[in-house]
Amino acid sequence: MAEDPIVVVGKPETTIANNPPAPAPGPGFSDPMSVATRQNAAFNANLVKQDSDVADDEILVVAKNKFKDTAGRLAIATTYVRNASFLVPCLSSMSGLRGILLTMRFNLQSKNFGPGKAGENLADGSTVTNINMNVQSFKDYLAYGEGGAGYLLTHELAHSFKEMRDFNAQKFQEYRDTGGKGLSLDAARQAFTLSPQGIQVEARANTIARAIYNKLSDGKDFGFNPTNGYAVC
Ligand SMILES: [Zn+2]
Repeated sequence: MAEDPIVVVGKPETTIANNPPAPAPGPGFSDPMSVATRQNAAFNANLVKQDSDVADDEILVVAKNKFKDTAGRLAIATTYVRNASFLVPCLSSMSGLRGILLTMRFNLQSKNFGPGKAGENLADGSTVTNINMNVQSFKDYLAYGEGGAGYLLTHELAHSFKEMRDFNAQKFQEYRDTGGKGLSLDAARQAFTLSPQGIQVEARANTIARAIYNKLSDGKDFGFNPTNGYAVC
């Protein structure tokens, strides 16, 4: 039985569940839009954290603000599309879109994650989806502005759907049976990123991300070509 690989966060210049807990409406808060508004605020408040050795320089402050602005806009948009018919390539259902988005937490770190990697997505279908990320890579993405923020959010969201986690596990096993044969689990996880199977996973995540971002942003695209390109499903 293969252990699930950790999905990596690709670097921008070269490359790159869950239901929300039912809100417990208190007195006067039973209006669905009030509930959604409070969920969105909680999401935004918890979206980005950073390790104590990560300095809040001017670029990072601007980057985090842009990231939260975009995240807030996407979260609001999900309240309007969550019950609508919404199909994207490479994924059979958008069920859980809003729920998964609201579980996402980006943890900025000074750690270097290795060749081709900006971080790691620890999605496991629980109530919090942790994404550990190198802080310089975060700044690099946010240098693309709103499109960079939208890409990071929707690309990691795409990886977090169960269907995509299963696809990742399947491709990782395929890699371990072929090109990665004989490698230790850790070595295989590291090398998977740049393997043909790893690239297939990243390209599929890009395709799903672009469709979601397009839907939630009135037709906008990212404004740059992500590493590993797009997949045809
Ligand atoms: Zn990825």
